[in-house]
Amino acid sequence: MKKREIFDQVSDMEQQIGELYEQLGDLKGRLRDLLEENHRLAAENHNLRNHLEQTDKQNNTESSEDKPPKSFPGEGYDNLARLYEEGFHICNLEFGSPRQNEDCIFCLDFLNKKK
Ligand SMILES: [Zn+2]
Repeated sequence: MKKREIFDQVSDMEQQIGELYEQLGDLKGRLRDLLEENHRLAAENHNLRNHLEQTDKQNNTESSEDKPPKSFPGEGYDNLARLYEEGFHICNLEFGSPRQNEDCIFCLDFLNKKK
């Protein structure tokens, strides 16, 4: 291979690396936006759940106690409990992500509330 060809190839690579670097920066920006949106939605979800629970509590005090709560039927609870036992978060903060063999106080708190 002639020196000139090698030089051209290196130049090409340099350009490609530059473009990749630009794309990487772009992706990083989009990832940051997604994480921010995710965080915002998680907070909103948390607030809405709290609101829903409050509304349910108010409704339940008016109705008889032997009825199961409207929004959390037994089957749904079992599914969540199973999901947790299989090693996933079911809390608002990290719903669906793996727990890595550690108990999560938010998940446990969530389960206790739903019992
Ligand atoms: Zn959790």
